[in-house]
Amino acid sequence: MRLSVITAFLAGTVLPIAAMILMGAGGTVKSPTGTAPDRYAYYPGTEDLDKDEIRLIACGTGLPAARRDQAATCFLAELGNGDKFLFDVGTGSMANVAALMIPYDFLDKVFLTHLHTDHWGDLATLWAGGWTAGRTKPLRVWGPKGATPDMGTAYAIENFLKAYNWDATTRNFVLSAEPGKISVTEFDYKAVNAVVYEENGVTIRSLPAIHAGDGPVSFILEYAGLKVVIGGDTFPNKWYIEHAANADLAIHETFLTPPDLVRLYGQSPGQAIAVGTQIHTSPQAFGKVMSKIKPRHAVGYHFFNEQATHDNILRGVLQTYTGPLSLAVDNMVWNITKEKITERMIVSPDQAWAVNGPNKPPKPPARGSLPDPISDFIKAGRWQPAEQAQAPMVNEFKKEHGLP
Ligand SMILES: [Zn+2]
Ligand SMILES: [Zn+2]
Repeated sequence: MRLSVITAFLAGTVLPIAAMILMGAGGTVKSPTGTAPDRYAYYPGTEDLDKDEIRLIACGTGLPAARRDQAATCFLAELGNGDKFLFDVGTGSMANVAALMIPYDFLDKVFLTHLHTDHWGDLATLWAGGWTAGRTKPLRVWGPKGATPDMGTAYAIENFLKAYNWDATTRNFVLSAEPGKISVTEFDYKAVNAVVYEENGVTIRSLPAIHAGDGPVSFILEYAGLKVVIGGDTFPNKWYIEHAANADLAIHETFLTPPDLVRLYGQSPGQAIAVGTQIHTSPQAFGKVMSKIKPRHAVGYHFFNEQATHDNILRGVLQTYTGPLSLAVDNMVWNITKEKITERMIVSPDQAWAVNGPNKPPKPPARGSLPDPISDFIKAGRWQPAEQAQAPMVNEFKKEHGLP
């Protein structure tokens, strides 16, 4: 990690009421041809992770309704041992994930807190997009059971694949079917602090959450003596209070204030108070949770974060909590070690391409081994002048690459 300047500056301080985006500032430029000092920004793919370090990236922090500058919930944890975990993959979040230019083979593990679309709506993008862009193996999804089988993650994924049958069948004809598979590990949503994943020095536990119906959970990630809590949608609950205590970094939702739900989201006052204070967490309640569990760093999310909403939420939080805090926006990143926690913003390309990983792509199916999804009737409609127009280009390309 090459954060010497800012980490020294921020060590142990992470801005007392730092609900702000760090700006590029500070340092001394020593030569007109030399480099500038650290810019308080993270450029993906330019920094090694230390063995005992976690990099946590907010790839979605918003709401179910679409907004161009804020996708729905998605956090990516990158660990010093090379493991990466997606916690939720909410609608729109894959554009932020893709801009990190991480090979899709490294993005094969997804943990779902619950099955609202703002927490898994972009699974389709990860599934099909990753399949076309270099993932060589099936996706692995972990998520809670429901109170009945049809409310659980396995049911959701089984029927997700059925809904995308046309997509899968047409891709299977030209690509290996292997990366298009999804394996599901379901676990009991009522189990408290139960291990749902344990491999390679990483433990992930789940906690019940109180949100809209039975099923939702929060996760605790433990690695290298560090504890990161990824809170899903919930009203503050006793399980989080007990087991998220003393986390290095604790994420918990904090929802829009009831007046803002009325003013900006068009909700009735009755609906606003029910949604904002009964199945989600108000800013005051969020602050109370953080004052109780005392993480090294607290992260609030799950609202459209603009000046007015941010300030209104911060005012509420400060009534009950004044410790280290980020009110997250998309592309915020935290580097977490025993010594320090730094918060920065990511600078990444809008026009990122997929990056190949180390694994060779699996072989496509042999010709004739699967029924052709295009019928003779449809094939007979090909417009010949178009074939003729492209023929010289096609022939040249085939010759160059030795294709039949
Ligand atoms: Zn939800
Ligand atoms: Zn949500």
